Formats: sequence, structure tokens, C-alpha cells
Amino acid sequence: MRIDVLTLFPEMFEGVFGASILGKAKEKGIVSLEAINFRKYSNNKHSTVDDYPYGGGGGMVLKPEPVFAAVEDLHVGAEGKKPRVILMCPQGERFTQRKAEELSREEHLVLICGHYEGYDERIREHLVTDELSIGDYVLTGGEIPAMTVIDSVVRLLPGVLGNETSAVTDSYSTGLLEHPHYTRPPEFRGWTVPDILISGHHAKIEQWRREQSLLRTLKRRPDLLEGAELTAKERKLLQEWSEQAREQAEDKQ
Ligand code: SAM
Repeated sequence: MRIDVLTLFPEMFEGVFGASILGKAKEKGIVSLEAINFRKYSNNKHSTVDDYPYGGGGGMVLKPEPVFAAVEDLHVGAEGKKPRVILMCPQGERFTQRKAEELSREEHLVLICGHYEGYDERIREHLVTDELSIGDYVLTGGEIPAMTVIDSVVRLLPGVLGNETSAVTDSYSTGLLEHPHYTRPPEFRGWTVPDILISGHHAKIEQWRREQSLLRTLKRRPDLLEGAELTAKERKLLQEWSEQAREQAEDKQ
């Protein structure tokens, strides 16, 4: 996979692209990661990329010419499909694990990072294929959101994670939140590890993990249960837990 990021601050990506899972994925040749300063595509002698908004008001707006020129330059020479061109933007579609899975099947992604007040609307209307938001809050620029998207996409590429199953059981991949984890020591400050996990009984451990995953999702993100694939037995269990919780809440009142 090839990922190009258009940014005014390419230096922000140096550490992120060189370290941990992203660094290893790059080293193994599974992904190519480039941060490109689109200021070099400015068409004026002062290399400006932004201008005052028509109609007045505060803040500066990113001009269309350098952003279009940078994306079009990346198309040239690229074989096969056109890239997905993704605008990082707090008004975009909310980024989710499903979207990360979808993007991980692409050959080439181009992420555009805004800064300042916003983008000229023609970028949104005529250049990009997707607009993505990482949450309902506003950051200074699109660099941190782009890093978030890139990290979650790259870790899904085959061969990137040492243990292939670790992404498969991650929260959201299964449609549920992941079960709790424990490691040595078996007792720490009087807090013990659940007996089942040290029983060596793999089938029972798997059943415990699945139930914990359901319980955790019910408590923290019940909205996810609507779209999750559940057996009749699991639905019944969830109903029982919900009833128990309701009774306990009523007893407290
Ligand atoms: N005035 C814009 C608005 O209200 O929608 C916000 C501009 S923000 C200060 C500057 C840039 O940061 C945006 O163009 C976008 O690239 C990025 N950004 C900020 N928050 C974001 C979020 N939640 N998700 C994705 N990108 C974000």
C-alpha cells in the first residue's frame, strides 16, 4: 500500500512514520509512507497557500490551486486505480474500525491535512473522495487526525502485526469491546487473576473471554450490541444481565 499525506508540517510525521508498527511496516516494504509539503505547489512568488475568506470574517482559507496541483501530481505515473483522496475534517464522516478495514483494502491513499479556518469549498466538492473526522472536537490541524487514520489502517495490513490474531480480536473488529487481559503475577497487592485464566482449559477460557466481552460492551457501549453477531444463547444472557442491572438499580432507590 502507498499512503501520501499532504501537509504544511511534514516534520510532524517524522517520528510517527519511523517508530513502532508503522516504522516496521515501512521497513518490511508493506507500506510506503510519504509526508509531502503542498506549499511547494503554490503558484505565487510568496509561496502562500491560504487567503482571506470571501465575504469577510476571521481566519484564513486554504486555496484550491496548490491542493489540486499536489493531488494531480500524485496521480501522474501512478499505475492502476486512482487513489482514495481523503480530506481530514471535523465535519466529515466519523472514522471507525469499519472504515479502517475498508481503507486497508485500497492500494493508494492520499490524506489532505487542513490548517487555519478551513478549505475552499471546491476542494471538498470536486477533488476528494472521502471526508473523515476522528471525533466531535476541533484540532488545530489535520496532521494528528491523519496519523490516527494511517496507524489504524496500516496495522490491519497482512504481515504488519506479528501475531495476526491480535487485530482480529481487537475492540470493534469483532463488533464488541475486547475482553479484559491479565498477566503475571497471579496476585498483585491482594488482587488476583480470575482462576479460569490459569486453569489451562482453553475452551472454558474462550467462553469466559466471549462473555466478558459481551458484558463489557453491555456496560460501556450498549449501542454496539445492535449491530453485533450474537447467538440466541448470548442474547438471552444479555437480557438476563440487563434485568439484573435494572433490579439492582431499583433496589438502590
Ligand atoms: N473551521 C473548521 C470547522 O469548523 O469545521 C475547523 C478547522 S480546524 C481548526 C483546522 C483543520 O484541522 C481542519 O481543516 C482539519 O483538517 C483538521 N481537523 C480539526 N479537527 C478535526 C477532526 N475532528 N477530525 C479531522 N480533522 C480535523
